[in-house]
Amino acid sequence: MAGVLVVGEIGANGALRHVALEAVEAGKSVASAMGGGLTALVIGSNIAAEAAKMNIAGVDKILVVDDPRLASPSAEAATTAIVAAVKASGASVVLIPGTTAGRDSAPRAAARLNAGLAADCVAVAAENGALVATRTVLGGRAQTEIRMPGSSIQMATIRPGAFAKAEGAGSASTESLAVDFGTEDFRVVVTGMTSKGGGASNLDSAPVVVAGGRGLKEPANFALVEDLAAAFGGAVGATRAVVDAGWRDHHEQIGQTGRTVAPGLYIAVGVSGAVQHNVGMQGSGAIVAINRDPDAPIFKIAQFGIVGDLFDVLPALTQQVKAARG
Ligand SMILES: Cc1cc2nc3c(=O)[nH]c(=O)nc-3n(C[C@H](O)[C@H](O)[C@H](O)COP(=O)(O)OP(=O)(O)OC[C@H]3O[C@@H](n4cnc5c(N)ncnc54)[C@H](O)[C@@H]3O)c2cc1C
Repeated sequence: MAGVLVVGEIGANGALRHVALEAVEAGKSVASAMGGGLTALVIGSNIAAEAAKMNIAGVDKILVVDDPRLASPSAEAATTAIVAAVKASGASVVLIPGTTAGRDSAPRAAARLNAGLAADCVAVAAENGALVATRTVLGGRAQTEIRMPGSSIQMATIRPGAFAKAEGAGSASTESLAVDFGTEDFRVVVTGMTSKGGGASNLDSAPVVVAGGRGLKEPANFALVEDLAAAFGGAVGATRAVVDAGWRDHHEQIGQTGRTVAPGLYIAVGVSGAVQHNVGMQGSGAIVAINRDPDAPIFKIAQFGIVGDLFDVLPALTQQVKAARG
């Protein structure tokens, strides 16, 4: 067996998630080093248009599993589809977005395929025809490389935001994959979803993220962060300290136990810069820190630092951004 299979996830809104393009980027280098080609798998209901978005340079074939029953997300059905796609493509490496859904289906598929699985990887490479997956350990202080020499199929989940998005028009062929689903694949049916609201839903794709920390003193003051994010047309993020305090929802948390983001501009406001926070945003294009403590660790990774009281700096900065952007 040879080749790489990348799973492209369809989000709750029916659109291909950005992390699918990140998984393609991760898979491209592994596929070219190992040979055997790069196959993309897209699973869902009525997804022809979204599957076509996987036609990116480097992708050789797109396998589409399109079934009305998949309108309701099912880890069991996704697992069955992944296993079928691995067999159909002959892939020896499988990369799955490390999202909630991916973390659910990847270990199930690994068990069924008797494959090795490295979770939450921030880098992947090929060495002597085998996968080398890198993940962070010790609270983000170190990285470790994982090899799976005993497994003919090697799998990894890809940490969202850890890879660039693959781009460039491709010339992949598209094939419909018929999967023999069983009733056990649809034991759970999602009958409805309720949005939590807020601006964090676009954290993955926002060009600018403004993240607030405990320096904001109290939840109401997050309005300052929201105003600056809105002025940029960006999204709001938060540290674990403020999430744990109940000021913000967990879906806004950036870091080791939250989300990984890589916007063009990341503005950290009243954030100390703990390593567990930094691992979730250090891939950002430019990092700006606003903190009154000149020795705050955040300044070690920030390209631009403003030493000052956020309650003075933020309103003035928001005003300037609004004026500059008209
Ligand atoms: C296993 C583990 C996992 C973790 N996962 C995460 C994670 O995913 N994400 C995460 O964020 N953290 C995580 N943490 C917690 C992390 O270690 C820090 O405790 C947390 O990030 C600190 O949040 P903070 O920067 O908001 O608060 P603090 O560390 O209290 O920093 C507040 C900052 O605000 C500044 N400040 C105060 N007042 C002002 C003002 N008026 N103007 C300007 N600046 C001001 C202070 O100088 C200070 O630097 C984790 C910890 C552990 C042990």
